[in-house]
Amino acid sequence: MSRNDQVWIKRNYENCSGCRRCEIACALYHEGKIWPEASRIRVFMLVPGVEIPHLCFQCDDYPCVEACPTEALSVNSQTRAVNVDASKCTACGLCIKACPGNVPHLHPEGNYIVICDLCDGKPKCVKACQEGRWNTLMPVPREKEVSYKTLAKTPKELTHEVAKQILGEETAKEVID
Ligand code: SF4
Ligand code: SF4
Repeated sequence: MSRNDQVWIKRNYENCSGCRRCEIACALYHEGKIWPEASRIRVFMLVPGVEIPHLCFQCDDYPCVEACPTEALSVNSQTRAVNVDASKCTACGLCIKACPGNVPHLHPEGNYIVICDLCDGKPKCVKACQEGRWNTLMPVPREKEVSYKTLAKTPKELTHEVAKQILGEETAKEVID
């Protein structure tokens, strides 16, 4: 895989229907069963009607990898996704603290963190979303000039932003505050 083949998952939050096909596709691929709690993409609905699919933003400097004291996290040189070595992870949570989007989360049964690994360059969540014609998740070429870390936000922060677009400033304020 050359740099030109590397993908980044663009999110058009206002398109998300909350169908959660992405969670199902991810869990089926990584866990072999429908298990949304173990999905590497999670859809948050903190405000009714405002759905936020949330997954790794692949920050350029990977603060999660830097923060890990046991070297359980590494950057895949082919895809640039974060790989988790479950056998090395102690679930200390330092990667969660370091992540500007609070993205890493604990596997519901194993004592280790899960993070989107881009399914080796062919993300299953994107396929599921496109099959549903929602086009919320879009594969775009990873670009050198873009700072992906600036897009990394928590579900709460993203909900604030998207609610303003979908509901308008006044209603969003009423619903959120
Ligand atoms: S598949 Fe697409 S539309 Fe459905 S919940 Fe996931 S991101 Fe939203
Ligand atoms: S978004 Fe979070 S999990 Fe993803 S690379 Fe950045 S710090 Fe790591």
